[in-house]
Amino acid sequence: MNREMTSSFLLMTFAICKLIIAVGLNVGPSELLRIGAIDVDGHFTVHPSALASVSSDFGMLRSPEEPLAVLHPSSAEDVARLVRTAYGSATAFPVSARGHGHSINGQAAAGRNGVVVEMNHGVTGTPEPLVRPDEMYVDVWGGELWVDVLKKTLEYGLAPKSWTDYLYLTVGGTLSNAGISGQAFHHGPQISNVLELDVVTGKGEVMRCSEEENTRLFHGVLGGLGQFGIITRARISLEPAPQRVRWIRVLYSSFKVFTEDQEYLISMHGQLKFDYVEGFVIVDEGLVNNWRSSFFSPRNPVKISSVSSNGSVLYCLEITKNYHDSDSETVDQEVDILMKKLNFIPTSVFTTDLQYVDFLDRVHKAELKLRSKNLWEVPHPWLNLFVPKSRISDFDKGVFKGILGNKTSGPILIYPMNKDKWDERSSAVTPDEEVFYLVALLRSALKDGEETQKLEYLKDQNRRILEFCEQAKINVKQYLPHHATQEEWEAHFGDKWDRFRRLKAEFDPRHILATGQRIFQNPSLSLFPPLSSSASW
Ligand code: FAD
Repeated sequence: MNREMTSSFLLMTFAICKLIIAVGLNVGPSELLRIGAIDVDGHFTVHPSALASVSSDFGMLRSPEEPLAVLHPSSAEDVARLVRTAYGSATAFPVSARGHGHSINGQAAAGRNGVVVEMNHGVTGTPEPLVRPDEMYVDVWGGELWVDVLKKTLEYGLAPKSWTDYLYLTVGGTLSNAGISGQAFHHGPQISNVLELDVVTGKGEVMRCSEEENTRLFHGVLGGLGQFGIITRARISLEPAPQRVRWIRVLYSSFKVFTEDQEYLISMHGQLKFDYVEGFVIVDEGLVNNWRSSFFSPRNPVKISSVSSNGSVLYCLEITKNYHDSDSETVDQEVDILMKKLNFIPTSVFTTDLQYVDFLDRVHKAELKLRSKNLWEVPHPWLNLFVPKSRISDFDKGVFKGILGNKTSGPILIYPMNKDKWDERSSAVTPDEEVFYLVALLRSALKDGEETQKLEYLKDQNRRILEFCEQAKINVKQYLPHHATQEEWEAHFGDKWDRFRRLKAEFDPRHILATGQRIFQNPSLSLFPPLSSSASW
């Protein structure tokens, strides 16, 4: 059925279904949708291509499972109408918001009996970002891409403070996790930089929440994996946007020295500090391994291979200093002062200078390059872990120098963050130490690649890494978590589980929302069969 046919069919049947709802007949989701029961200003589609496009994700690890329909909302009220209908229907069918589908394990899926709300590709009517320069914030639609938030705020010389490495992610999608990058050590994750939200709860109510209003919902939704409501608007705090970025990479052969320098850098919060601190592990230099950046280009004066590492693993510290054109003289001095405190391999300094917007949007260039070689739409068995500082060197020995061997099939990021920049009241889960590291194994599986690049090999390696951490009692927490059983979810949330469960009972009592996370079973339908442990990762 094309869109026009769908619309007229919906109109024709609208009166009938209103009657059905009014008299409270017990109709299932498929009946409700077939007769177009829900009156929205946007539109529903059941077109096969639309169903197919929302049934897979960036991870490409699961067999696509098509939902009943896709809603393209044009307002929060459209989302609320759908959720109210789902909540009121006999079988309480699932409704999952989908941002840009960049999840790895089907987290934005709704299952065969559900409806996906396509937040990103809104039809006309979805609100544009609204910048308030006097108040230093921007109001954005939950499905807005961060790259568009950046473009809009830059028109006012402003920008959000905390980022992700990649900007083609949605505001609602990253705020449901945390949203982290090299600025998090100072500004905290993106969820620490939100002033207010509008949320459609699992009962279909549109609720405004903030530090002052509906506080429990506000903190619960941030990092809440979509469990308590669909974010339709977020108010994000802004700062004056820098114009340029000095981007520096230096190498280490000693993990100890590398992490000491990283930890030193994230302890600095005054005027004289780097603005972004990340790092990665270098095992070999293939395109797949270094897709995150074209930084080490052939034009670079120093080849990585010329830096002696005695054949072992190298570590790269990545730092930036933001500045305005008018400060271009002082930036050199500031960088010099800061660099003098670091203990990297002296011949290994790689520097570049670029516009702020080009730095923030750097991963998109890599995406285009990988797409041109058909290396983007491949399975991504990613594993993201928060590792406590006290055990990071055990992790290095056991994983980087142990389980991984000398092939990684993708970049491995490693950088520390300060726990006091995370609001404990949010639903995001981090290790119980003041400093913890993100370790992100961002792997791509290649069908025709070497054995070490095959999906099954990489999934098995992820399993071994998690097993190693468990045996060595390294209390890691998964970021962008994926767990197979209720017990694992309870262990993941730890002290926060009880609150998480209670918020679910209050704001999504029929377990309608974000069922693709597989945290709670839908009480009236067994939508997703429990995973066998071998199916995880
Ligand atoms: P989706 O994958 O579509 O959704 C994710 C979850 O959020 C689902 O459960 C969904 O139901 C829910 N959800 C989506 N929208 C809403 C909403 N409006 N309200 C409530 N719930 C909602 N993350 C980082 O923190 N830092 C990074 O540097 C980073 N880099 C990345 C680079 C790449 C190339 C990729 C593919 C991912 C990266 N991520 C990073 C991970 C990213 O944060 C997650 O994929 C996240 O899920 C956001 O993606 P999305 O907007 O496509 O959301």
